[in-house]
Amino acid sequence: MKALLLKNYKDLELVEFPTPEVGSNDVLIRVKACGICGSDVHGFDGSTGRRIPPLVMGHEAAGIIHSKGANVTGFKEGDRVTFDSTVSCGYCFFCTRGEINLCDNRQVLGVSCGDYRRHGAFAEYVLVPQNILYRLPDSLPFEHAALIEAVSIGVHAVNITPIQLGATAVIVGTGMIGLLMLQAARLAGCSRIIAVDLDDAKLEVARTLGADVLLNPKTVDVPTKVAELTDGHGADVALEAVGATSPIKTAILSVRKGGTVTLVGNITPNIELPLQSVVTRQIRLQGSCASNGEYPACIDLLASGAIKVDPIISALAPLEEGAAWFEKLYSHNSNLMKVVLQP
Ligand SMILES: [Zn+2]
Ligand SMILES: [Zn+2]
Repeated sequence: MKALLLKNYKDLELVEFPTPEVGSNDVLIRVKACGICGSDVHGFDGSTGRRIPPLVMGHEAAGIIHSKGANVTGFKEGDRVTFDSTVSCGYCFFCTRGEINLCDNRQVLGVSCGDYRRHGAFAEYVLVPQNILYRLPDSLPFEHAALIEAVSIGVHAVNITPIQLGATAVIVGTGMIGLLMLQAARLAGCSRIIAVDLDDAKLEVARTLGADVLLNPKTVDVPTKVAELTDGHGADVALEAVGATSPIKTAILSVRKGGTVTLVGNITPNIELPLQSVVTRQIRLQGSCASNGEYPACIDLLASGAIKVDPIISALAPLEEGAAWFEKLYSHNSNLMKVVLQP
């Protein structure tokens, strides 16, 4: 099969690669679409240590079942499917508690980190265990289905945030995950959504996806403005999609006493925390990791159009152009959100 192989750091090449052997619990999927994730772009130069070459990356994919192992039930050749990016073990302390996103033996497709190497979906075929597989409705295009993993991250973050009908939410960072959290927060009952970003173009996309108020910290003091908009109280919740001191401070200082800040972004390992503001105003800081059982809901939300991903897809391209798109994403000089490769 053809695969986009990371031969060395920053060196991607389309090569002939052995088609994976199908184990008894596995399904071999003919990949039709696979999104380039930020973690692939960050891993591609070796900086994260989670894409040790040689590796076929890619964990945000959808396709058609080509063949299956003897123990696979409930799926057949020709089924349109997607799959969780996380392979959970099913038997550890956390899996048996139903917290599969926190699995002790968690592996991610398209990752190699020293403990394991699992080739991903920037290839004609990818091998996936059946326990992470989900069927897709015919109406959902593969390129949209490839974004379900990202959608699930936004939906999970909102699901673990206490939101009551009529709540005000602040979305800090309106890149892809922020825009998905924004749509999920609306569906969860928020009646007012305040989008915050340093980039006015991104804020305009947030407006088209339902943001009521757009705030750019370059031109306005966000917590002051949020207080003005909420009778001086602050927002009920903030969802943070960047992960650095300044945006996290903005999120914390924008919520009311007793409010919740859900933290999804994590580009910096450590931040400075306005501790007294958190403690004396009884703010709840809630981390959110991947997703936990939200895939079926996300498939429905996408298929029904309740969550839209079209404005988030910057480009669709053949696998042959994959290396060039990685270069573009890596050089940061573009306003690209999701690039989806079509092997
Ligand atoms: Zn990803
Ligand atoms: Zn487990």
